[in-house]
Formats: sequence, C-alpha cells, structure tokens
Amino acid sequence: MEETCKNVYITTPIYYVNDVAHIGHAYTTIIADMLARYSRLTGHNTYFLTGTDEHGQKIAQSAEARGRTPKEYADEVSGKFRALWDNFDISYDKFIRTTDEQHKLGAQKAFEKMYNKGDIYKGEYEGFYCVSCETFFTEKQLIDEQFCPDCGRPTSIVKEESFFFKLSAYEDKLLKWYEENEDCILPRSKKNEIVNFVKSGLRDLSISRTSFEWGVKLPESINEPKHVMYVWLDALINYISALGYGSNEEKFEFWPASIHLVGKDILRFHAIYWPAFLMSLELPLPKHIAAHGWWTRDGEKMSKSKGNVVDPKQVADAYGLDAFRYFMLREVPFGQDGDFSQKALIDRINSDLGNDLGNLLNRISGMSGKYFDFKVSSIDVEKFHKKELDEVNKILENVEDFIFNMQINRFLEDLWKVLTIANKAIGDYEPWSKMKEGKTEEAMALVALITNIMAKVSILLQPVMPEKIEKIATSLGIHINTELYNKLIVNKELLNDVTITKVDQLFPRVEEPLIEQAPETKKDKAESEKKSDKQEEPDNLITIDKFFETTIKVGTIVEAEEVPKSKKLLKLQVDLGEDKNRQILAGIKEFYSPIDLIGTQACVVANLKPAKLMGMLSEGMLLAAKDENGLCLVRPEKTKISGTKIS
Ligand SMILES: [Zn+2]
Repeated sequence: MEETCKNVYITTPIYYVNDVAHIGHAYTTIIADMLARYSRLTGHNTYFLTGTDEHGQKIAQSAEARGRTPKEYADEVSGKFRALWDNFDISYDKFIRTTDEQHKLGAQKAFEKMYNKGDIYKGEYEGFYCVSCETFFTEKQLIDEQFCPDCGRPTSIVKEESFFFKLSAYEDKLLKWYEENEDCILPRSKKNEIVNFVKSGLRDLSISRTSFEWGVKLPESINEPKHVMYVWLDALINYISALGYGSNEEKFEFWPASIHLVGKDILRFHAIYWPAFLMSLELPLPKHIAAHGWWTRDGEKMSKSKGNVVDPKQVADAYGLDAFRYFMLREVPFGQDGDFSQKALIDRINSDLGNDLGNLLNRISGMSGKYFDFKVSSIDVEKFHKKELDEVNKILENVEDFIFNMQINRFLEDLWKVLTIANKAIGDYEPWSKMKEGKTEEAMALVALITNIMAKVSILLQPVMPEKIEKIATSLGIHINTELYNKLIVNKELLNDVTITKVDQLFPRVEEPLIEQAPETKKDKAESEKKSDKQEEPDNLITIDKFFETTIKVGTIVEAEEVPKSKKLLKLQVDLGEDKNRQILAGIKEFYSPIDLIGTQACVVANLKPAKLMGMLSEGMLLAAKDENGLCLVRPEKTKISGTKIS
C-alpha cells in the first residue's frame, strides 16, 4: 500500500474448499480486512477480494466419497467460508469462486494469450504426482524415493500429455524484478528464500491435466477438449478475473494489486509462478506479496487428530470478535509463526484492552461528568499540554509506516505508547487536585487532552476493532471518517467541543478461559485442581471475644488516586465518621480505577496498626474477597452512615 496511490487492491488467497476454516484462514482474512478498512479510512479507493478455490482432483475425490457432485460439494464448503466471513463482518467487495462463469472466461483468456505468445507448448509429462497436494515432484525431491516432500503421502508415477508454461524463460526477468523492487516480497527473509530458489534454476511448469475433468477447460480456440487447467494456474488468475479480465474489465482500474496476502506455504506459487504468468500476459506486477506464518496452539502444532484445532468462530463468540482481531494482529510480528493460547488472549484483553484502553475511556467519562457536566472543550490544551501533544504527534506521524511495511504489531505497540502518555498525564497533573485548588481551566485542559488522545488513537484503531471503536466514538461524540482522520491525524488538529456519553465497560475482565481446553491441557488443569484441594487448611475456631478485637466499620471513600510507580496500590481517603480523612493504601489497582471508587462504601478494619507502604502511611485495611476470578471489595448491602460499626 503506497500513500501516493489512490486505488488500492487487497486480496486474500482463495481458500481451497477441501478444508474447514481454521485460525490460519481467519488470520489472513482479518489482516486483509484491517488493511482494507485502513485504506478506505485514509481516503483511498479500495477493492478487497476474497473467495474460494474449487477445482482439482482432490475436490472431485472428496465429493465422490460423499456421494455428491463436485459442484454441490464446492457450493456447500464455499458457502461455509462466506458465512463465516459475513459473521465476522469482513468488508470484502467481492467474493470470487473459481466455478464462477466470469472467472472461467478470465482463465481461458489468459491461457489463450500466453499460448498465442508462444509461452505455452504441448509435451509429455512424467513425474511423481501427489494427489493430495496436486503437485508433481522430481525424483530428487521425494522422501525415500516414494513419498511426497510436502505431506508425506505416497506419490504415484503419472505419465500424461500436458501443456507446459515456459517458466525457465522467465528466470532472469524474475530475478531482475526481485532486485529492482525491494519490498515486492515481504518479509525480507522470505524474499531471500525465493530469490535463492529461482537462482537454483526453474523448470517449465506443467499447466494442464487429462487425468481428471473437474477444472476449467482450455479455450476452444486451442481445441484440446481432454485437457483441464492445472489448478494453480486456474487459481492464481482469480486475482485478475475478479476485476473482469477476459470479460467486462469492469474493475480493471484496480490492477495491479497493492498487496496479495498469503500464508508462507503458498508463497512460492505467488512469488514465482504468478509474476511469470503476469509478465507473459504483459500486465503490471503486484506491488507486494506478503507471506505470514502459521499458528500453533499452546505451543503445539494443530491437528485434527489431536483435537486441538482452533475454531475461529468459537474464539470470537467466546471472547468477542474485536478482542480476537486485536490479539491476532498484536501478538505476532508479521511473517513469524504465532502461538494461540487462551492465557495470552486473556492477558491482552485484561491488560491492553481493559486496563489501558477501556479504563481511559471510563476516566474520561468519569472526570468530564463529575467536573464539567460531560462537556469537554479543547480550547486550553495547547496552552497547558504542548509537551504531551508534541509527543503524541511525533509518534502518530510515523506510525503509518508500520502499516505500509506490514508491521501491524509495531503499529499497535506505538498506539499503546500514546495511550500511556494519556494515562501518565492524569497521574502527573491530578485534575482532582486542580479542581480542589480552583484551577478549573487546568483540569479542563487535562480532561480535553486525554479526550483528544483517545479520539486520535480511536481513529487509527478503527480498522482493527471496528465495533468497539464505534462505541468509543459514540461516547466521545465523534464520527470516525476520512474527514476526521484528515483533521486529527494528518493536520494534527484538536477536537471541537464535544459532549461525552457514559458507556458500559468496553472490555470486561476475563478471569478464566471461556473455552473448554484441548484434551491435554485439560488434564493438566484437573491435576493442579486436585493438588490445591489437598492444601486446604483444617478449621481453626476462635471465641467471639477474639473476633471483637477487630474493629470493622463502614467507610465512605472520598478520594482515590493511583500511587505512582506502584502496580498494585491506590491511595484512598476514607470517611470513617469521627475520622473524616483516614488514609488507606489498598492493593486493588488492578481491579478498580480511582474514579470508580469515589463516593462508594467499603468495610474497613479501623484498628489496624498503621504501616508505611512506598513511603506513605496506611491506617487501615479494606475488606475484600479474592478468588481465581479476581478481587472485589466487601461492601454494605445498603448505604450506611460513615463509621457504622460492623458486628
Ligand atoms: Zn503431498
């Protein structure tokens, strides 16, 4: 994606209908969707293509095994992919199927053109064929002279009449293209592998089959009715047939592709065959071909036999689609393999999304509501917070480079640095103290600063988490579109006056895995539970007198603030009746934000020996209950007069 180019064309691979959608498909599609949404937001004319690959011997065999025609079988599986993407609100512009008439026309036109150019000739193919991978191998490539190097299944010797594409003639041209276009293949490490492969020599490519019928027929002008197209040629052409190549050319203004997103297992087809086909067709080459890694689960390879395959819909249903999207995009540097675990996902939800993002929004609505009747004006932000604004703008200026280089995890890291600036500013400037001192303008400037930061970050996060960001936008009284993007991000301006609306907690804390564990991990958990049962203490009985040695009172929290540099502590001022300002340091920061506590009641141990925590005096303790689901304060059921004794 180049900043300068107005038309942007983004593709996922077309998914083979011999598989159910798993986390890998979801990952590719979510990255593509994020890029497409980003491209639209930033004002580009965008076209986003996904779809299904439906031809080949494997599909014919799978259909036969089920007593269906190949088309019936393809309809069913293709429909499932499409339904999943619709359920995920994937913003594709076209869902292509290689069984579409428009696609067949495009594939035939391309074949004809390459044939007429002299790049296709008829010969005889003899090779070791793996039905499962639909690929021929040379004897050298086989494992133990018999087995497929990709999937390990036995291969069979196949000798058949075949058309060939003169791939060998494109070796030098491909190497020149790789050399002149530094970022044509991402990440760079993968590009080096491709370059070395091409340098080791390319053989002509068999591109037709006579041993089965489930495929696109060769063009009539060639008059070879026994032949169908090799499934990879057929599939790759989808990227241009979708734009109307060979039919109506309706959307051909979008060619060349800005980015083809692919899994690393199919990079070779995209980075060698596809550019060679395009050179033969005399069409411009794609700007980027980006290969991502694979996903494991809890550190192990996923497989049907282990029963540990991650079902993306199950994860999104349990944890929320936007949290799942954020997790996938944030967790793994592009191109590397990623590991899915519920623990890692829960950590991201509770810390990045709940604490850093969600709580900041709560604080905006809390402070703007308490001090300013929810009205926020940016008028004095520059005056009091130029330093913070400069820091924010400096990060945001460069953050888009990460998107153009497919470093989405670093893009998100930097947005979180900006959120940290906002959270830190609250601690540094203590708007509640400013209000006490009557410095209303300064308090307003601070609230407006964090509101503006939230707005800027939300604009850039919208392509990542469209649904949750819509809620934030509603709360901030803004509408995220290209105009606002230009104003706040490109021109670095501030918001006009806004009215804040309170929203429900955006990312409620997740305390334990919401999906039943894969078989192995489940066993581990059961064992650790057994252990903790054994450790339970026997009952210790005490007399009532002993109990009354502890004075417990109802306290009303009048002030609450974070203790700087402490992960756990909040500093509270508690009204205990006779003692209106009892200072208590409570280790509850992970579970409560100060704004949520002010004005609420809690049960306080009032006769505890004072203690110093982080250099500050703490004179009491709040009663709280903590279990594996987290911590909550113990409070009177109804509001009681401050200082009421509990017995
Ligand atoms: Zn194989």
